[in-house]
Amino acid sequence: MSAYHVADATGMIKLDAMENPYSLPESLLSEWAERVKSVDINRYPDPGAEQLKQVMRDQLRLPQNTGLILGNGSDEIIQMLAMAFGGAGRSFMSMEPTFVMYRMIAAMNGLEYINVELNTDDFSFDMEKTIQLIEKHQPAVVFIANPNNPTGNIHSMDELRKIAAVCPGVLIIDEAYAPFTDMTAEPLLEEFSNVLIMRTVSKMGLAGLRLGYLIGDEQWIAELDKVRLPYNINVLTQAAAIFALENRGIFDDQARLLRRDREAMLTSLSENPHVHAWPSEANFILFKIVDSKLSATEVFESLKSQGVLIKNLSNGHSALQNCLRVTVGTTEENACFLEALNSIL
Ligand SMILES: *Cc1c(COP(=O)(O)O)cnc(C)c1O
Repeated sequence: MSAYHVADATGMIKLDAMENPYSLPESLLSEWAERVKSVDINRYPDPGAEQLKQVMRDQLRLPQNTGLILGNGSDEIIQMLAMAFGGAGRSFMSMEPTFVMYRMIAAMNGLEYINVELNTDDFSFDMEKTIQLIEKHQPAVVFIANPNNPTGNIHSMDELRKIAAVCPGVLIIDEAYAPFTDMTAEPLLEEFSNVLIMRTVSKMGLAGLRLGYLIGDEQWIAELDKVRLPYNINVLTQAAAIFALENRGIFDDQARLLRRDREAMLTSLSENPHVHAWPSEANFILFKIVDSKLSATEVFESLKSQGVLIKNLSNGHSALQNCLRVTVGTTEENACFLEALNSIL
């Protein structure tokens, strides 16, 4: 293995990590500072983060009668799943290309990792193969990112239902990009007790807080709570997240703007004959360099030398050869990126 590498973005237009480019208005920042000032940093946090959880239930309109557990980012929740479901002969499964942490956390915790390839043209499920491999390997945990990262597409409720019906363990539907799509698998929580939904506040605009959550059947959540380290959500995160969620309208407005700009960016990308861009339900767009003397890596380096950092995916999964991923930034940042790209290609 190698340690998770994060590119240095000092002084760059940073469109590599699906961060919301907007911050809070000045007026709210001072109110936020007041709130954070009153936090007792000499005391341990509320171990169950009960007040924060109540605010999340209300502000994020979580379904009634469902369990809720918080993690230091959803990455920590994936780690809790590995600890709770791991052991001899246990495996994680996912459909690739997808979020790399499912595979990495499986490896770190000694679980086997089963991969099913997505169809290469549109990244949809190969349903027959998926069901066949679930039945063969009996994975303890199946992960589906919906919308998927780094491809941006969504899978339908019918497809998710078919997979849930054959999962012998739990099915985790990772809705990290929920703010940017109308799709949610929430209705499945009532149909299947082994379906859990994972989300995060990272992509909505609070990536620095490190706060992810998992909802679903209370009994599963109670089992996972046994492997959660006490105080995993620090006092500053609890206070800041409560304040942010009480003002969640601001984040909804920002998400609406990012969704609009995503469509504009897709249109612009599609006008370049050397680019094949896929539609996206998330705050990023996957695109491939086609019919060009330049490789994706050369385009990536050239953008970087012009001060624009995106993500080069061409050294990863084979289905992503010559592919790059750009996060939707501010309207101005997107214009800079497009201008630089069009000057290169
Ligand atoms: C970004 C991302 C996450 C990680 O979220 P954190 O809460 O910041 O750890 C989880 N799942 C997917 C699919 C992501 O793209």
